[in-house]
Amino acid sequence: MPIYEYICDNCKNEFEKIVINKQQEIACPKCASKKATIQLSVFSSAVAAGSAKSFTPQSSGGGGCCGGGCGCH
Ligand SMILES: [Zn+2]
Repeated sequence: MPIYEYICDNCKNEFEKIVINKQQEIACPKCASKKATIQLSVFSSAVAAGSAKSFTPQSSGGGGCCGGGCGCH
């Protein structure tokens, strides 16, 4: 389940919330304001960088099976 970070537009309180449905209403736990800005940059960039790094050596390494051409399946 994705956990998103929000900053309340009203009191600038930072809080995290598990978001099941992106349309769901979020409310600041401090002032109960429903206007909060989602903070996606930190989390999504870390995930993107991690997946890009782990994917590259897999596709370029190719030490094991050739992928079907050798008939080893
Ligand atoms: Zn607030």
